[in-house]
Amino acid sequence: MRIVLVGPPGAGKGTQAKIVADRLKIPAISTGDIFRANVGAGTPLGLEARSYMDSGRLVPDSVTIAMVRDRLSQPDVANGFLLDGFPRNVPQAEELEAILAGMDTKLDVVLELVVDNNEVVKRIAGRRLCRNDSTHIFHVDFNQPSVAGVCDICGGELYQRDDDKEETVRERLAVYERETAPIVGFYGERGLLTTIEATGALDDVTARILTALEDV
Ligand code: AMP
Repeated sequence: MRIVLVGPPGAGKGTQAKIVADRLKIPAISTGDIFRANVGAGTPLGLEARSYMDSGRLVPDSVTIAMVRDRLSQPDVANGFLLDGFPRNVPQAEELEAILAGMDTKLDVVLELVVDNNEVVKRIAGRRLCRNDSTHIFHVDFNQPSVAGVCDICGGELYQRDDDKEETVRERLAVYERETAPIVGFYGERGLLTTIEATGALDDVTARILTALEDV
């Protein structure tokens, strides 16, 4: 199955993407994670992306699209994928359609995670990621590690993303409304959109997603 997950920062995309992709045995592809790995490793791509990420703006489409095109050419996506954080604007959505057409395939479904802004701010402020692997995600209230500050999965140190600080979060929410929200209409017109209520317990949201996917 070929799935796109859309939603504002703090909607739980990264957490749900990992869980759902594991269940379906397809790779979860997060452009944010790929950028963060490149920033961490100090690659040219990371150096280019960093200033945009630190200020909560989108990395230029030319850079992002080339990276996704490369990732989607790898053999592990043959049976499907779950994209988290891409596309982020209408030009990226159009480009994704073209990339998939070139592979003789198309998306099966776009899941929109819907959550209110107050909850988003609470979720982001408490979010903690593992330094060893940014797909290991915890929350100081909603998904606590057994030992504060320590990753349950690998024992790594938990930290707060620089762009999870309040000022940057506000900018990321504004960017979402301005640039990303229009792709909801884009996919609605194509009959690909399914809306998921993403408020409440993590397990309940996962269950709603899996139920929605059964209908696809
Ligand atoms: P995320 O982990 O999805 O919240 O992404 C973190 C940051 O990476 C974003 O605020 C952007 O600066 C950058 N980023 C991730 N995905 C994209 C994308 N599809 N297009 C442009 N920038 C992106």
